[in-house]
Amino acid sequence: MQEQLLVTGAGIGGLAAAWAAARHSWQVRVYEQTPVFGEIGAGIQLGPNVTRILSSWGMGDALAAVAARPDRLMARDALTGAELASMPLGNEISARHGSPYFTVHRADLHALLLDAVRGMDGISLHPAGRIVEVRETADATGGGGSGVVHVRTASDLEVEADALVGADGIWSTVRAQLLGDGPAEPSGHVAYRAVLPQSALPERLRSQSVTAWLGPRLHAVTYPLRGGELLNLVFFVEGRAGQDTDAQTWDHAAVAADLQAAMGHVCTPLRELAQVEAEWRLWVISDREPLSSANQMARGRIALLGDAAHPMRPYVAQGAGMAIEDAQVLGPSLALAGEIGVPSALSRYANLRWQRAARVQARSRRNGRIFHLDGPMRHARDVSLRLFGARLMDIPWLYGARL
Ligand SMILES: Cc1cc2nc3c(=O)[nH]c(=O)nc-3n(C[C@H](O)[C@H](O)[C@H](O)COP(=O)(O)OP(=O)(O)OC[C@H]3O[C@@H](n4cnc5c(N)ncnc54)[C@H](O)[C@@H]3O)c2cc1C
Repeated sequence: MQEQLLVTGAGIGGLAAAWAAARHSWQVRVYEQTPVFGEIGAGIQLGPNVTRILSSWGMGDALAAVAARPDRLMARDALTGAELASMPLGNEISARHGSPYFTVHRADLHALLLDAVRGMDGISLHPAGRIVEVRETADATGGGGSGVVHVRTASDLEVEADALVGADGIWSTVRAQLLGDGPAEPSGHVAYRAVLPQSALPERLRSQSVTAWLGPRLHAVTYPLRGGELLNLVFFVEGRAGQDTDAQTWDHAAVAADLQAAMGHVCTPLRELAQVEAEWRLWVISDREPLSSANQMARGRIALLGDAAHPMRPYVAQGAGMAIEDAQVLGPSLALAGEIGVPSALSRYANLRWQRAARVQARSRRNGRIFHLDGPMRHARDVSLRLFGARLMDIPWLYGARL
């Protein structure tokens, strides 16, 4: 009989997990709390480590058709606008790490995964299926054991399966019940973001590069989407959002005037970008301490994946990437379950994943501190960037990994 997997959450992580499990002959049911499957509009950068996996899943052409392929990664001084460092992307990064660097609209990446999942035998999707309770029966330790996981939805439906993957995001219910380690914590940073057609901008503000603008206690990241037609803007500033801004709803309407006030003085092009007429949204950035053991990613027949397992600040642009990497390792691990038992298969997955994910979480925090430096440390950073730019910006252990 085919083994049964439950996945909570149909975000990028949950869909990737469902896909990877079904490819290894598991029968998968995905429960998503929202009534309609989808993603809110914003950009995502996908390094070669991630595009390589998506290509190996047969999604490379579909991804290339909706993505942009930025020409370079650039660091600029947010106060003066001066270029501090630059690393070629385009063909050069493909040649160096064996796969392209893409930037993609989240909704496009989500739709691509959703299409793949819908076209795959053995996966069923259950919208409006918020999971409120997770339970595992006793035999979680034995080899091929007879344990089972049970979940209950908000509408009181009870379902059971051989294994459960909690891919329910940073505020994961599955994590809360599995680990009981409290909610993620606000980082003290908020992000304002907008996506707009490049044609709506004057020529001097259009760009086909990934640009990180670094300033005291703030930074901004801009990059093209959809073949370069759109520009994604994200400004990160220190401070807390207003009292009525719920951190757990990451997508709030925002007022550009608040962003401009929070930024203070910045160079003209960056100020102009912050003033564009667009539908600005606000995001409260939260995260957790980096993982410290495999035991935080899987216990018995329940595993965590993506932000549920290792939420991170978006300063290496790899949160979704790590979720896709998780899925890439989860599939072959589940394939071994018949031989070694479900708990050992999930433990293998966690053992193969936790250290790399923790390293990216730690790097994300460190990048945030470096990006926001002020005073003499800021000058030291800028000198290093000017001297060693491309070498500092490339991350071979991250981009070059073959999982
Ligand atoms: C400003 C910003 C920029 C970013 N940029 C990048 C980038 O450039 N590159 C990159 O790789 N990553 C980036 N990230 C990170 C990336 O967005 C996340 O890491 C990624 O979306 C996590 O995917 P996920 O599927 O784990 O979680 P989510 O996308 O949060 O999906 C979780 C899903 O679970 C559902 N759910 C929640 N609770 C339940 C429940 N109880 N029952 C059923 N369903 C439930 C939710 O509705 C949701 O659909 C960025 C993040 C931010 C904030």
